[in-house]
Amino acid sequence: MGTDSLRAGLFDSHLHTPLCGHASGSPRAYVQAALEAGLAGVVFTDHMPMPAWYDAPWRMRRDQLDEYVALVLEARAAFAGRVEVRLGLEADFHPGTERYVAEVLAAHPWDYVIGSVHYLGAWGFDNPEFQSEYAARDLGELYGQYYALVEGAARSGLFDSIGHLDLPKKFGHRDPGGTAALRALDVVAERGLSLDFNTAGWRKPVAEAYPAVNLVQAAAARGVPFVLGSDAHAPGEVGHRFAEALEILGGAGARVVTYRGRERQDG
Ligand SMILES: [Zn+2]
Ligand SMILES: [Zn+2]
Repeated sequence: MGTDSLRAGLFDSHLHTPLCGHASGSPRAYVQAALEAGLAGVVFTDHMPMPAWYDAPWRMRRDQLDEYVALVLEARAAFAGRVEVRLGLEADFHPGTERYVAEVLAAHPWDYVIGSVHYLGAWGFDNPEFQSEYAARDLGELYGQYYALVEGAARSGLFDSIGHLDLPKKFGHRDPGGTAALRALDVVAERGLSLDFNTAGWRKPVAEAYPAVNLVQAAAARGVPFVLGSDAHAPGEVGHRFAEALEILGGAGARVVTYRGRERQDG
């Protein structure tokens, strides 16, 4: 990353911790990486606890939530005056779990909550293990179902932003249409949410950030702002390709924001 080309005051607002079971490095190591990358702050947004029957191997358990909060607050204290450390979650939107999610969101003073769709029914469509299912699906229908869930996430009132908007493209299965995405963006705009500009897509087979440039433009045209995030699952990924991300966002005339106490602020 060319840190000299990054403007001051930038946050990486999408970071994980080892509590989710598939990330490495202590929270302090992520913040140290942010400091070295010249970032002003970070928001930890680890995969939140969900009901025991939902995606359990890929997230912290409910009885680890207090430990997660304590670790983030400890990192905040350790870097006070150098890097601002905020407390967030990456939540899942999955119909039937809303009440559970609301209960977790009420348990601590979160700064920022991302709402992500990772499942179509029982299929974890972004899991490399279950990729072969794409061949059995009609891609147009798949995206239609996916974006209907994104609309549900936006309408739920539970989240500040939508995570990695065009996630089903992860392994290269791009949306053959586009109208479902635009309808979802209308709802995101109407409900006042932001979008996660997620640079992890550049590290995946699709080799493209989430969302694609045409969707960044469509979002910006609707006044939807973006929250910049690396989706780091290791300290070395903090701030990944932020200079390029800013070029794309700037080129589309998109606004970059952060969240504190679940309130949007200019980033
Ligand atoms: Zn993860
Ligand atoms: Zn995610």
